[in-house]
Amino acid sequence: PKDRNFIKLNTNENPYPPSPKVLEAIRAATGDALRLYPDPECTPLRTALAEFHGLTPEMVFPGNGSDEILAFCFQAFFDPDRAILFPDVTYSFYPVYANYFGLTHRQVPLGEDFEMPLAELCRGGAGGVVLANPNAPTGRALELEDIRAILEANRDCVVLVDEAYVDFGAQSAVGLIPAFDNLVVIHTLSKSRSLAGLRVGYALGQPHLMAALCCVRDSINSYTVDRLAQAGATAAIEDRAYLQEMTERVMATRARSQVRLQELGFQFLPSLSNFLFITHPEKTAQELLNGLREKGILVRWFNHPRIDNYLRVSIGTDEEMDALCTALQELLS
Ligand code: PMP
Repeated sequence: PKDRNFIKLNTNENPYPPSPKVLEAIRAATGDALRLYPDPECTPLRTALAEFHGLTPEMVFPGNGSDEILAFCFQAFFDPDRAILFPDVTYSFYPVYANYFGLTHRQVPLGEDFEMPLAELCRGGAGGVVLANPNAPTGRALELEDIRAILEANRDCVVLVDEAYVDFGAQSAVGLIPAFDNLVVIHTLSKSRSLAGLRVGYALGQPHLMAALCCVRDSINSYTVDRLAQAGATAAIEDRAYLQEMTERVMATRARSQVRLQELGFQFLPSLSNFLFITHPEKTAQELLNGLREKGILVRWFNHPRIDNYLRVSIGTDEEMDALCTALQELLS
């Protein structure tokens, strides 16, 4: 909405600006060279990412946001005859991609507290497995050993682990990449690195998997990551201290907000992401959504079975979260 200045807690953006080094790098890249196409291999960015994750550049595939990479993965790794598995409550793009690319899928119900149905995911015989870890919109995360079990049970298909929110306290599966030739991990710079506007994400996996993604990309658009995005993203990955400082701030605000929301009678799941999934016994989520909007605060409500009495609230600054809690208190009184 453009008609007023909202507190925006609805799309899990980071409330803090990107590293000053990112802005410097983008400014330095803004010049005559923009007449030239970017490096399709994103060499400096891949090198920085490989160093950051302790992998080789052949194990890194950058793209124009992780949504694009997910779309490439659905095209590269799955075929129409074997159903892909993903949970019934997860990132809404997975069923969209499956349908759009003509793939069959089976949505496995999460448990009563939205926990991952491990036994179902470890049954084998799937055409692929797609997981967000931490899951969205619940915020719940799997332990590394559970991911390992899923990988072992699905050795003959690709397991995509979407770690969009992993930097806010969850365990990453990146360390499992050398041991599993069926694992693809996807990261984004949109959340922990405050760069949703730059559109950069990346996949990590063994070289044959990354080569398949290159095949799909080069059949559609070789130059997915532009010059300014490559420059800014490389600086963001290199500024490790800034990442740590900002994620710690968000996690501290998450803990502080949980206390306050609990005092207001909200129930929520244990979140290892930069959002909370909250519900209240006395007011419906939709009433709260509309009430907050009137007070100038945007949060996310999903009109889907099982989760239609929950709100997903992104973690903002301490001041924004205080404003949220004050508004919620007024709506509840
Ligand atoms: N995966 C998950 C689980 C997400 O929530 C999002 C953000 N909406 C994305 C991927 C896509 O992020 P981006 O395209 O900004 O990298």
